Amino acid sequence: MRHFLCLLLSVVCSFGFASNKVLQVGLFSKQEPSEILIKPEIGSYTVLGNGLQILELKKGQAIRIKSENGLVAVSTLDKAIGTYAEVRLERKTWGSTMVIERVNQGHKAHEYHDDFVITPKGSKLKIVNHVYIEHYVSGVVESEAGSREPKEYYKVQAVICRTYALNNRMKHAAEGFQLCDQVHCQVYHNKSRHNPDILKATQETIGIVIVDSDINLVTAAFHSNCGGHTCNSEDVWSGALSYLRAREDDNCLEEPHSYWRKSTTTGEWMAYLKRRFNYPIHDEEARQVALNYCPDQRYHRLNDSVAWVDFKTVRKDWGLRSAYFNIEQVADSVILEGRGYGHGVGLCQEGAMNMAKRGTSYSDILHFYYAGIHLVNLSVIEFFRSE
Ligand SMILES: [Zn+2]
Ligand SMILES: [Zn+2]
Repeated sequence: MRHFLCLLLSVVCSFGFASNKVLQVGLFSKQEPSEILIKPEIGSYTVLGNGLQILELKKGQAIRIKSENGLVAVSTLDKAIGTYAEVRLERKTWGSTMVIERVNQGHKAHEYHDDFVITPKGSKLKIVNHVYIEHYVSGVVESEAGSREPKEYYKVQAVICRTYALNNRMKHAAEGFQLCDQVHCQVYHNKSRHNPDILKATQETIGIVIVDSDINLVTAAFHSNCGGHTCNSEDVWSGALSYLRAREDDNCLEEPHSYWRKSTTTGEWMAYLKRRFNYPIHDEEARQVALNYCPDQRYHRLNDSVAWVDFKTVRKDWGLRSAYFNIEQVADSVILEGRGYGHGVGLCQEGAMNMAKRGTSYSDILHFYYAGIHLVNLSVIEFFRSE
């Protein structure tokens, strides 16, 4: 199969990139501003009001855009220009960027690539960035992975990010854009700017996405640290996915998020089990299991035979870092000795970072955490769909 895809890849690549390379991302979607100040940082822009050109904007110039009586008011720093139902900012040259400052929200500046469409939303502004997918990917990788990782790890994140973006383009359809800029979708707070390796990693994996054996884009789940053993998707969520399979992982055992501890009193722990799971706390054998539990591998429930104590529920109720822990009674206390951080499904980020540091390729890292997947150029998928 992989050989076939590689062949196809080389054929399809010669056609060049097809459509769908531009994403529509809702900016400041957590708290939309009512007024912004915008200025080109790289290149220049054409400003259109209701589809007609109203001015050109070069580096060093700025305009104010404000929500006003259900319209968008545009002004330069000293005079009003007009009010419109829709304002568009179109870049004149490839690579142009715009800085957006939110007036009344601390003026923190955010810089983004490509085009923008601004419309009123109540007393606020809806700002949608029409961004080339690879510009978006590098921005997300920097927002989510920071600027201190090896390049091969950024490639891993770039492929995951691109796959997610293309797989979730309908998520905000009702709001008039495709993805938000918050953790709900993927964090996108700026163009990538602090580490040139992020741009290189994006370029070196350009167009590459993860698909399953039916050439469908995968749900590329990831978490911070698996604690030594990842989970099946159905152990945590409802559906079983062929590529989200549990596996051992010894790449993440000496990290800040490898271990955690939580202690409580024996009385409180027992009362909780009784209340939440109707656990038979007066049965001596069951009681001993609930006070001293050291499994030799990762399980998702405490002794099925007596009561259904689901660790995912325990994690949520106690605010634990993971659902993977031992239980030990010490005097009058119960100590939960935990491993890992996060849901445990899919790719373990700290494990993947260590593999990248040791020289494992991004492709081998992705195949290690996602079972039976293929890495293909997204043109291949479009080719299949158009058949
Ligand atoms: Zn979202
Ligand atoms: Zn791990």
